[in-house]
Parts: sequence; structure tokens; C-alpha cells
Amino acid sequence: MRGYLPLLMNKEGHVLNAVLLSIGLGYILEPAGDETTFLKILEVGAPVVLGALFPDVDTAFGKHRKTLHNLPVLVGFIAFWLHFENLAWVWLGILTHYVLDVAGSKRGIALFYPVWKKEFGLPIGVTVSSERATMATALVTVAELALIALLVYRVPLSAVDMARQSVGL
Ligand SMILES: [Zn+2]
Repeated sequence: MRGYLPLLMNKEGHVLNAVLLSIGLGYILEPAGDETTFLKILEVGAPVVLGALFPDVDTAFGKHRKTLHNLPVLVGFIAFWLHFENLAWVWLGILTHYVLDVAGSKRGIALFYPVWKKEFGLPIGVTVSSERATMATALVTVAELALIALLVYRVPLSAVDMARQSVGL
């Protein structure tokens, strides 16, 4: 029981992250809070959750936190998205999985695999079995949504404009 508990919690963490992220995205992209918001959450949520589950497939095929946890995989999915105009939300799910593994756990991931097998993580991470893992997951999700909201609403640009106007430029 104890043996697979951390892995189980890890999966739950990634699903929780993907679901919260999708709900936030739904409100950022369709802020009305009605049926259109709900449909956007559904549209975004399914592929983001699938993408967030994908990297840990390397527990079965390949080396965990290496084979499907690296930048070449991420770049490959961007190329797929740009070329076929498909899998954009799956790509975001994979990205958020990486972010959570790097920021939300101590172990980190092999970002430059297969060239460099070193696993990169942040010292602020908590071990996945810790009860603080859920809190870490929530914090990472909030940070991601804040960043996405900044990108979508272009807050930095309007802030620059406001500063410019206030000094009369
Ligand atoms: Zn992972």
C-alpha cells in the first residue's frame, strides 16, 4: 500500500492541476460565467487533462521522469500544433505537467533528455507523498493562471500605457 501511494498521489496532483487550470482558463477566455464559460471549460479541460496524464506514460514505456519529461517532447508537440493546428490544449497539459514536476516536487525532471540525463527540480518543491503536495499543486495552478491571465489580458502593456499617459508621453 505505502509503496504505490506516492505515485497515486502524483497522478491525482496532475489531474487536480489540469482540472483547476481548465476551470480558470474557461473563465479567462469566456468570462461571462454562463453556458459559454462551461462549454469552454469542457472544450479546454478534456485535452488539458489528457495532456497532463501523458508524460507519466513513461512509467510503463521508457525511463520515468526522463523519456516523456523533456524539452524535445514539448517542442515536438509545438511543431505538431503549428503544422496540423491540432493538440494545442494537449500541449498545454504536457507543459503544466512539467511545471508541476519541476516546481511541485523535489525530484524534478530530465529536461534535456536524452542528451543530458540530469533531473532538474526546484528546492522549494515538496515530496509527492507529503500532505503539503495538494497545497503545492494549488499554488502552482494559481501562479500558472495568473501568468495566463497576464498574457491574455495584456496587463503589462496596458499598465505601460497608463504609466505613459500619466506622465504625458
Ligand atoms: Zn511526471
